[in-house]
Amino acid sequence: MDFDLTKEQELIAQSVAEFADKEVAPKVAAYDEAEEFPRDLVDKMYDLGLMGMMVPPEYGGGGTDTVSYTLAMEEINRVDASLGVIMSVNNSLVCDPILRFGTEAQKEFYLPRFAQGPWLGAYALTEPWSGSDAGAMRATAVREGDEWVLNGQKIFVTNGWHADAIVTYAKTDPKAPRSQGISAFIVPADAPGLQKVRKEKKLGIRASDTAALAFENLRIPEENLLGERDRGFRVALATLDGGRIGIASQALGIARGSFEAARDYAQEREQFDRPIAEFQAIRFKLADMATEIDAARLLIHHAAALRDRGKNYTKAASMAKLFASDLAVRASREAIQIFGGYGYLRDYPVEKRYRDAKITELYEGTSEIQRLVIARHLARDLQG
Ligand SMILES: Cc1cc2nc3c(=O)[nH]c(=O)nc-3n(C[C@H](O)[C@H](O)[C@H](O)COP(=O)(O)OP(=O)(O)OC[C@H]3O[C@@H](n4cnc5c(N)ncnc54)[C@H](O)[C@@H]3O)c2cc1C
Repeated sequence: MDFDLTKEQELIAQSVAEFADKEVAPKVAAYDEAEEFPRDLVDKMYDLGLMGMMVPPEYGGGGTDTVSYTLAMEEINRVDASLGVIMSVNNSLVCDPILRFGTEAQKEFYLPRFAQGPWLGAYALTEPWSGSDAGAMRATAVREGDEWVLNGQKIFVTNGWHADAIVTYAKTDPKAPRSQGISAFIVPADAPGLQKVRKEKKLGIRASDTAALAFENLRIPEENLLGERDRGFRVALATLDGGRIGIASQALGIARGSFEAARDYAQEREQFDRPIAEFQAIRFKLADMATEIDAARLLIHHAAALRDRGKNYTKAASMAKLFASDLAVRASREAIQIFGGYGYLRDYPVEKRYRDAKITELYEGTSEIQRLVIARHLARDLQG
């Protein structure tokens, strides 16, 4: 067992950390306050190869392993979780399924555009009546000649407002039982019949857009089917396994950013004639945060290493996401406690992380769903 990062992985972490500190950090508060999509920063992320990190170089990507991707996600999210989710959706939920399930023509057309820019991707699975129970979706796709005609509603689509193409899902066999008879599609944003319904107002990750979309007799060519007809739920689940490693890394980044801000503040802030870092109550909070951050990183790297070795990582990814997202919420709350009243103000760098952290317990499977996935695997392990 080797706990050391390779030279290349260290270099990736360092260069992303530098970008996050020098170029992202000064703009975070303004984008968050304005709830504005950070287009200039996203463009820079294409230049740095952060938008299609694991896409092989022959399709225009960085060709990195999953561990490197988690390191980059941790560094971006340490500074801004809005930029982090934009990056995670493009990498994990768009490039990954096209790479794994796409035809050669789809890979050649889409991957360079998503990995190098300027195309931004989105992933639309959730509907008003189907969230955790994604198999209960009602959107339909009907074959007419050499086209698919889609009808339905999709909500909570990250990047949905600005996306150039969307990976989505619809029922192609209405008679099939739930979660069967579903197919995946790639929908260009300019396809006739695609409607942007609204942009949501949110608690956190405010600079990332979250859109409600409608398909009204939306027409796409037959070749935009992604993977096998009627086997799309497999695409959705396989995609979310990888996505959960990304969101776990996002949560870890939020926890680490919270911890570092609190640690530094505790050295500077004096009460009762001494830095508050000298009080055991504060030191123990910091010790717990640091311990749990290391534990989360180990779970994440384990899941990523399993993925890189081609092993099953579903349970490991769910465990990493469950633990890291719980930590992000706890660590960001404790960071505010250490800042005292100042932590509650927008002028200080911890209240935003507290608002951002909560989403990691919700998207790409709530914490309850992660526990269901883990428990299902435990039951299988017991059965041998
Ligand atoms: C900001 C944001 C961005 C998002 N981005 C995307 C995106 O890009 N693409 C996309 O497709 N979706 C996206 N989502 C949707 C997200 O994945 C869903 O919100 C999530 O899966 C939960 O679904 P739901 O909101 O319908 O909650 P529900 O499924 O209605 O769950 C409500 C509660 O019931 C619990 N629950 C449900 N079923 C069970 C069960 N079997 N056992 C125990 N508890 C259960 C849940 O854990 C939760 O606590 C996003 C959501 C948000 C808020």
